[in-house]
Amino acid sequence: MRIVLLGAPGSGKGTQAQLLVEKYQFPQISTGDLLRAAVAAGSPLGMQAKAAMEAGQLVSDELVLAMIKERLSQPDTKNGFILDGFPRNIPQGEALDRMLEKMHQPLDMALLVEVDFDQLMQRLTGRRTCESCGAVFNIYTSPSKMDERCDKCGGNLRHRADDNEETIANRLKVYEAQTEPVIAYYKTQGKLRVIQGVGEIPDIFAAIDKAINEMVASQRPVDVTTIVEPKPAKPKAATTKRRSITVEDLQAKVLSAVRTARERKAADEAKAAKAAAKQAKAGTAKATAKKPAVKAPAKVVTKKVAAAKVTAKKATAKVTAKKVTAKKVTAKKAAAAKKPVSGKKAAAKKATVKKPATKKVVAKKPVPKKKAAKPATKKASATKKKSSAKKKHK
Ligand code: AMP
Repeated sequence: MRIVLLGAPGSGKGTQAQLLVEKYQFPQISTGDLLRAAVAAGSPLGMQAKAAMEAGQLVSDELVLAMIKERLSQPDTKNGFILDGFPRNIPQGEALDRMLEKMHQPLDMALLVEVDFDQLMQRLTGRRTCESCGAVFNIYTSPSKMDERCDKCGGNLRHRADDNEETIANRLKVYEAQTEPVIAYYKTQGKLRVIQGVGEIPDIFAAIDKAINEMVASQRPVDVTTIVEPKPAKPKAATTKRRSITVEDLQAKVLSAVRTARERKAADEAKAAKAAAKQAKAGTAKATAKKPAVKAPAKVVTKKVAAAKVTAKKATAKVTAKKVTAKKVTAKKAAAAKKPVSGKKAAAKKATVKKPATKKVVAKKPVPKKKAAKPATKKASATKKKSSAKKKHK
């Protein structure tokens, strides 16, 4: 959990940071505390920072960033930290993001403790801090029960040097000009949560804690054990395959339609031939009248093949194999039309003399009207064919 605590001087963010440390055991990193320690130790860094601090101005970014970089590199920050009083301006915010990105530890949230501007002065002037444990009291709002001594450890309470009215005014001005834009910076990143810093300290802390818990919950990965596995759809795969017509499906359909039609035609023709032979035997010349019965199934075949062709064309358009299928269908149709059916052959054998009458009818069908005016030639050629056929059968 990596959190930035934002708030004007006197908003109580330091107090809340301490409560968070108690609860979550993350280190609180306060740049103000670090700078004060450096000033107290008389280190070069402290010497440089002292003047700016006493004037209520910000210490240079260079110094503060070097300090933060060094602090964040310490092992106790690996599992998280609470930054208090940093970043104080946009360049510090951007530098922090870069630093954390390099560490692969992005910030989780920025918590703003918001307090009405008028209340801040009273809080700041009344603030007292324990020199030993850092506990914060306020002579107006939350005084120590032991007056000038710390309730928790009995240490001395002191009034901070920069908590005088003149410096306080400067610090508030600096906050307004430089730190308030940082609020918008985190808002844009979607990491800002605002907590009202007015009321009892435990209540404010409860609100902060709630915000942290919500943030943690929102980051928690989805519990995969609650995801219901869909049942394996065993027959569906096959059904889906069958639904999409392939070229092979189509060819099989056409072939089966042609085959059925051919078989029916053969059966019908055999029947008709049988009947014709019977009539011929009985000496009836009207055996030819039966011929349409032979022709009828041929029409049926043509219709069925044509229907199969239409189906084939429609379906092939879907599978983009239109040409291939159409050729095959046409070939099959032609083959069906050309092929003399065995039943027909048998009928031809048995019908013998009566057969020519049928031939005439068949020959006339595709001939255009002009040619029909020459029946003599037709008949002659038909007779020729008949005689050659007779010879062959003999
Ligand atoms: P604070 O205890 O956070 O109110 O800080 C006390 C003083 O330390 C401020 O008035 C500044 O002079 C200085 N200071 C603390 N934090 C920063 C910071 N992030 N950047 C610059 N100066 C800071």
